[in-house]
Amino acid sequence: MPQITCSRCRESKELMSEPPFPGDLALIVQQHVCAECWRGWLEAQVNLINEHHYVMTNPEHRAQLNSHMREFLSLPD
Ligand SMILES: [Zn+2]
Repeated sequence: MPQITCSRCRESKELMSEPPFPGDLALIVQQHVCAECWRGWLEAQVNLINEHHYVMTNPEHRAQLNSHMREFLSLPD
């Protein structure tokens, strides 16, 4: 498996075998984030959704959650 240097934990890890969700942003995540850190985000995301009462069908809420995700994972712009 190809290796990546994870943008969150800074360790050299295996590339996730598939993008973790549909869409272009997932390809960036796959190229920069390891599976462990991605799972960490999924847990953090649940707390954020509860805290901010995000509704995933609301495009504005999804955009806000995406920016939290970019920050959490230290994704490049
Ligand atoms: Zn990582």
